[in-house]
Amino acid sequence: MSVLGLGAMGSALAGALVKAGHETTCWNRSPGKTDDLVAQGARAADSAADAIRASRLVIVCLFDHASVHEVLDPLAAELAGRTVLNVTTTTPVQSRESAEWAARAGIEYLDGGIMAVPEMIGQSGASALYSGSSDAFHRYEPLLDLWGTSTYFGEDAGLASLYDLALLAGMYVMFAGFIHGAAMVAPAGVTARAFAAAATPWLTAMTSAFDEFGAIIDGGDYTVEGQQSLRFSNLSDLLTASSDQGLSTEVVAMVQRLIQRQIDAGHGEEGFARIIESIRQPG
Ligand code: NDP
Repeated sequence: MSVLGLGAMGSALAGALVKAGHETTCWNRSPGKTDDLVAQGARAADSAADAIRASRLVIVCLFDHASVHEVLDPLAAELAGRTVLNVTTTTPVQSRESAEWAARAGIEYLDGGIMAVPEMIGQSGASALYSGSSDAFHRYEPLLDLWGTSTYFGEDAGLASLYDLALLAGMYVMFAGFIHGAAMVAPAGVTARAFAAAATPWLTAMTSAFDEFGAIIDGGDYTVEGQQSLRFSNLSDLLTASSDQGLSTEVVAMVQRLIQRQIDAGHGEEGFARIIESIRQPG
């Protein structure tokens, strides 16, 4: 197989293939990035076209959707009859557009989202999400498993990136919440690492709520007994404690606004999961 793009992630993906003994051809726009991989046993291609000609499977790990088109568009004829696995982060619309572009050019297309940082590739905890050609996924699944746990979502090429970005949305908002908490305790002389020691078990325990929220959201009934109500989930004290210390309240205020819109619409006694309705209908 061939790997186009040897940034931090492309190098890690190619390295795992070489380590497993696969014949791997690598190409990068800027010179110098193939040296380490060649030392491990990979072959360096002089051009993207040369790399494509070397393999039936072409793995693309570039910066963004535009760079993928910049590299692949002029080489569509070379790619015809081959498989492109595009693990560049793109939006679902962009992934579907790439799949349509590939179909028009006679290229088999699989889209991927890597749920790991480069150091995690090939280690436990790494996973990758795929959608697009089912044939391609199943043909190359043993190879994809070298990077981490592989999950396939279906023929719609946009699904892997949809899951990828949805999971990242959860991660970034959680990270921002943790960092907001660290800013709150800092004036009391608490280091961010000490706060992390308290936050990790707390937030880990709280993830058990996801499944309960999921059941309520799927059932569509936010009045089911036993839920914490929106009125009870008032974040005023969090906002006051933050602003009392001269901190930005943006992170907490964002959640409070989602809650408040539902209370204002008359749903204050319903469960917290109802904030999904504020997200579904932007204010
Ligand atoms: P890097 O910035 O390290 O590498 C970017 C790569 O894209 C380089 O090989 C760069 O080449 C190449 N590139 C950029 N623009 C062009 C262009 N116009 N034409 C040709 N090549 C181009 O990024 P990563 O390797 O970290 O990330 C690659 C993809 O993987 C991204 O889409 C990223 O979102 C995704 N990803 C990364 C993760 C991470 O933790 N790093 C995690 C999950 C996904 P050059 O060396 O010449 O600049």
